[in-house]
Amino acid sequence: MSTIADNIGLVSQRIRAAAQAVQRDESSVHLLAVSKTKPAQAVREAYAAGMRDFGENYLQEALGKQAELTDLPLSWHFIGPIQSNKTRAIAENFAWVHSVDRLKIAQRLSEQRPADLPALNICIQVNVSGEASKSGCTPADLPALAEAISALPRLKLRGLMAIPEPTEDRAAQDAAFAAVRDLQASLNLGLDTLSMGMSHDLESAIAQGATWVRIGTALFGARDYGQP
Ligand SMILES: *Cc1c(COP(=O)(O)O)cnc(C)c1O
Repeated sequence: MSTIADNIGLVSQRIRAAAQAVQRDESSVHLLAVSKTKPAQAVREAYAAGMRDFGENYLQEALGKQAELTDLPLSWHFIGPIQSNKTRAIAENFAWVHSVDRLKIAQRLSEQRPADLPALNICIQVNVSGEASKSGCTPADLPALAEAISALPRLKLRGLMAIPEPTEDRAAQDAAFAAVRDLQASLNLGLDTLSMGMSHDLESAIAQGATWVRIGTALFGARDYGQP
């Protein structure tokens, strides 16, 4: 049976190979370990193998894990859908939010970010798969949203995040990720982050410029949503 440490080694090799294939410096691609549904012990194992950044989708689950792991210097990223009544806890307990897709949520995060913490790093989630996805702002709405968010005081707009419709077709993967990269470039806001690529499509995402790949299954194994 492979361990989390083995899996981190394998994913790191995939990242290295994907970066080399397009003459990118592998250090420009960061690995976000998506620990949703996995116990605090799995995070501990990943930490022992060198991981520092962890992504969570469900607030209550994340807060529980954070409480068990206060002895470790971890950086937490919120990557799931955000309801208004969850913004305060997110603003107080995370370093990054990858899944902002409307101004109201960004305004609340800015107002609620504690003054003693650094600005909250933000990615705008953009929907490049049309009706196939419910989350993410439309490409048409993106420029105004990005302008407005970049003006909010307690946030630091870093870039875009996307979850394209899953496909095994490399050309389709490339087209979706290239669209995200081009949207980011067209904003002209000097953004440095593209959060895109998951276990099945990280090679394509890296070829198109990903700076964070968000990896769950390939690090921690399949998720079992039946076992809370
Ligand atoms: C679950 C999740 C991931 C990780 O997906 P895997 O296919 O398990 O690597 C990445 N990003 C988001 C937003 C997720 O919800």
